[in-house]
Amino acid sequence: MATNRTFTMIKPDATQENHIGGILSMIEEGGFRIVSLKKVLLTPERAGKFYEVHKERPFYQDLVKYMSSGPIVAAILEKDNAVADFRTLIGATNPAQAAEGTIRKKYAKSIEANAVHGSDSDENAQIEGDFFFSADEKF
Ligand code: GDP
Repeated sequence: MATNRTFTMIKPDATQENHIGGILSMIEEGGFRIVSLKKVLLTPERAGKFYEVHKERPFYQDLVKYMSSGPIVAAILEKDNAVADFRTLIGATNPAQAAEGTIRKKYAKSIEANAVHGSDSDENAQIEGDFFFSADEKF
């Protein structure tokens, strides 16, 4: 059964071009509640760990370099049917194929620098959220 949470990152191309606010607006206007939010700079080691599932893909080294090239914004989002609905809101991996009205259509620059990440399953949403946020964080 689908859970009501997903995980997203606003990627370095989008944070560097001042699109954090615009993307968060599209997320909220899309009916998602922001449960947790933080801006961090990933080391190449941490970026490599996050994308470990892709380590056999030819673009893995480039992806790690890109994802550690500037700050990212990580967030846990809540909405009914969150994972599938968020994938619809962000659009296709390649912005040339992304539908009108999607975040990637509006903000992505290339298949790599594609503005946002969205979890592809409930299981990965949990794993990816736990990668950045812990339940007992105190400030
Ligand atoms: P997503 O689920 O839509 O993010 O796509 P994937 O899980 O297939 O790929 C993960 C990320 O790797 C994408 O969001 C892109 O940033 C990057 N990526 C995917 N395909 C390519 C590619 O063919 N070339 C490069 N350079 N990067 C890619």
